[in-house]
Amino acid sequence: MKTYQQYIDGKFCESHSKDIIEVENPYTGEIIAHAPNGDVEDAEKALEAAEKAQPSWAALPVAERAGYLKKMAQAIRDNRKMLADTLTEEQAKVSGLAQVEIDVTAEYFDYYAGWARKYEGEVIQSDRPKENILLYRQPIGVIVGICPWNFPFFVMARKVAPSLLTGSSIVLKPSSDTPNTTFEFAKLVDQLGLPGGVANFVSGRGSTLGSALVKSPKTGMVTLTGSVEAGQRIIADSAPNITKTSLELGGKAPCIVCKDADLDLAVKAIVASRVIFSGQVCNCAERVYVESAVADEFMAKLTKAMSEVTYGDPFKDPNPDMSTQVNKGQLEKIEAMVAKAKTEGAEVLVGGERPAEMKTGYFYKPTLLGNCSQDMEIIRKEIFGPVLPVVTVSDFDEALALSNDCEYGLTSSVFTTSIEKMMRAINELKFGETYVNREHFEAMQGFHAGWRKSGIGGADGKHGLYEYLQTHVAYIQY
Ligand code: NAP
Repeated sequence: MKTYQQYIDGKFCESHSKDIIEVENPYTGEIIAHAPNGDVEDAEKALEAAEKAQPSWAALPVAERAGYLKKMAQAIRDNRKMLADTLTEEQAKVSGLAQVEIDVTAEYFDYYAGWARKYEGEVIQSDRPKENILLYRQPIGVIVGICPWNFPFFVMARKVAPSLLTGSSIVLKPSSDTPNTTFEFAKLVDQLGLPGGVANFVSGRGSTLGSALVKSPKTGMVTLTGSVEAGQRIIADSAPNITKTSLELGGKAPCIVCKDADLDLAVKAIVASRVIFSGQVCNCAERVYVESAVADEFMAKLTKAMSEVTYGDPFKDPNPDMSTQVNKGQLEKIEAMVAKAKTEGAEVLVGGERPAEMKTGYFYKPTLLGNCSQDMEIIRKEIFGPVLPVVTVSDFDEALALSNDCEYGLTSSVFTTSIEKMMRAINELKFGETYVNREHFEAMQGFHAGWRKSGIGGADGKHGLYEYLQTHVAYIQY
């Protein structure tokens, strides 16, 4: 059993609340850690430390700040197995994928360290003689980062790396389901000589500690990755201070399979996108629209592929394709959605239940649903599990229209060999990302940003870096 403490002002300390959060291994059901259930006082203490530390942090040359990011990358690499095992234990991510998450996180710190000497201000032409107009890009101040449970380590880096590079300090709150990797990272950071208060890691419930972090006037920006509901509460809580928010929220990614598609490629990519981390990825394939001309052939191939998906112990070698859902609530939500889809007329072609042979863990079988239609909840709401509903459409125009008929707008994909359809999909799909003839998964040099209820702002690459900077324009007469 591990016991974690808050990391505030460069020191590990007791939570003011003395209360704890029990962290469960979703595969074994064992309680594997106690993390602090921090309160409003913890939030205030962490923000005060961050506010105090930020001006001298921003005054360091950016290359020096980047040096700390490089040290973080190296510390992660030096501890890759411990961190991957911690991740697998706290959320049942299969160990191969957990290792990928750790490695990509190290790369992410290096990637943003590489921006140190690259981001720039601007010199703007003046209307007046003897005047220069200079646009500076300056740090925001104190950033509050709030993380989900599905990629707790990578998303932590998505918030810490750009904050520190650009001269802000950060208070980071992990999900109450998965605080362990964040606190293991805090222990590594503690060894790097980072000035106290620059990076603070505090755990506690979103409704108490999280909300206090958002409401504080000390907070310059809130960056949340999480559900639409949490995003809505954060918008409301940040309204009194007009605090900037950057929100990466849920998705309902459509996959369009055209009659001219390479069906084997489409099946492989869609199944991979649906079952990775047991379907608990924001950009996962959430619904399929297949043209009727190839629907029978496609469904036969898809049924075979979904029934071959393996599940089991996330530490087993070789890894199964997927493991459990993260907690009981997620499992029950998926069950209820499939039950409702069945009453609405969906046909279960594969799975559709918990596997009886698994004696522990929140497992749900890889599931394929045929005969779905646009009005069903399973086509309209995020499932976040290994369940793939399919709608047959008469043509590509209908597929585009139904894909866009959605309150989310994160990712989308199209499978086609027609250049015309590719280009129309890119121009007409109203989503932040479109993948053509490949699985859904973004790159750190891209820009991960959702339309509509999938979010505000975004992360990664140059545009993600600019989210963490504010402009300051100086008019200089001489
Ligand atoms: P969640 O329930 O919304 O929780 C996310 C984080 O927000 C947690 O740390 C949570 O704390 C905190 N929180 C909840 N209410 C809050 C409040 N009022 N004020 C401040 N913080 C609050 O989401 P999740 O279940 O962890 O993650 C799954 C969701 O995240 C899915 O919808 C998925 O699509 C989305 N997601 C999106 C992206 C993307 O890039 N767009 C990436 C990954 C995941 P507690 O844990 O204490 O409740």
